[in-house]
Amino acid sequence: MGAAATQNVVYLLGAERVEMRQEPVPDPDSCEILVKIDAATTCGTDLKVWRRGGHPRMLDAPCPFGHEMSGVVAAVGSSGTRWREGDRVTVANSASCGRCGPCRTGRENLCEDLRYLNGTFAEYILVPRRFVRRSVHAVPEGLDAAVAALAEPLGCVLHGLNRTPLDRPGEAVVVGAGPIGLMFVIELCRRGIEVVLGDPVVRRLEIGSQLGAAAVVELGCNTDDAERLRAACVGRRGSPVVIEATGVPGGWQTAMNTASTGGTVVLFGGCPEGSRVDLDTHWLHYSEITVKGIYHHRPASIAAALDRLAESEAAYRQLINEERPLAEVELALRRMAEHKILRAAIRPASDWVEGS
Ligand SMILES: [Zn+2]
Ligand SMILES: [Zn+2]
Repeated sequence: MGAAATQNVVYLLGAERVEMRQEPVPDPDSCEILVKIDAATTCGTDLKVWRRGGHPRMLDAPCPFGHEMSGVVAAVGSSGTRWREGDRVTVANSASCGRCGPCRTGRENLCEDLRYLNGTFAEYILVPRRFVRRSVHAVPEGLDAAVAALAEPLGCVLHGLNRTPLDRPGEAVVVGAGPIGLMFVIELCRRGIEVVLGDPVVRRLEIGSQLGAAAVVELGCNTDDAERLRAACVGRRGSPVVIEATGVPGGWQTAMNTASTGGTVVLFGGCPEGSRVDLDTHWLHYSEITVKGIYHHRPASIAAALDRLAESEAAYRQLINEERPLAEVELALRRMAEHKILRAAIRPASDWVEGS
């Protein structure tokens, strides 16, 4: 890596403002690595962050943008690591400390000093020391780079499922058929659970059916939604497991109103700061409803996600609808916002476009 080499890096400047900048390609310090990015996927979180102009935890604009990726180790710092030039890797977008209370009890996603890494919409990314130690994972042989980049969102989904009681036979409701909701569909169906999927966008419901959802319900984003979802469940009384994947308070409310007696509601999508929802205390108490918040992923869930992506590559490929160069990150986000695509893979090395 010559000191004079430059690269393109996409920056988030504020709400719906990004800019591509030319910067020197960094040299890795001791214990760091430099990764050449093969593919960086656009995520629902990126869309939220782009619309809101920032994220209370993950980034502070202006800053390099993008957080899902896979690539190849291009250079290794002087002290060396277990990684070698040419290794195919994915780097998770956070690194826990490994020492605090939550880390010591296997809850690294709640680390008291969780650090985030952004800047995957670029040709190269410098991976800091802590991330090299805790957040770099080998990509299974033969797995496509864009599909491998889904290790981050799928890691979140697997973490959520790990914390969801799925031992009761039967059924789960998934509220929201965006990329995350559809990942839940794939993983629940694989466990033999019948999925009722709800979303306002018919095209997304069709994909959900193709991926194995037993029933789909078109939602109107109003108070009837829970009633319609409950009616689609066996016995028409709601479901023992309801997973919310919308990131809006209305979706949280619908999910909470869809659980059956003794059921568990898993709230997955982060809503805007300061959001509030109503709780029916009577129902919560007398029906023994469990309400759980789920956040982020752990190193073990990223590793498990890579295994699952290799096993079910064809299903996961359906969640990536087109490939675009770095200059078209914003266009890809707009197309996600218009529900024309679920996700795009940004290929820094390409200047071609595929798909619709
Ligand atoms: Zn993501
Ligand atoms: Zn920690």
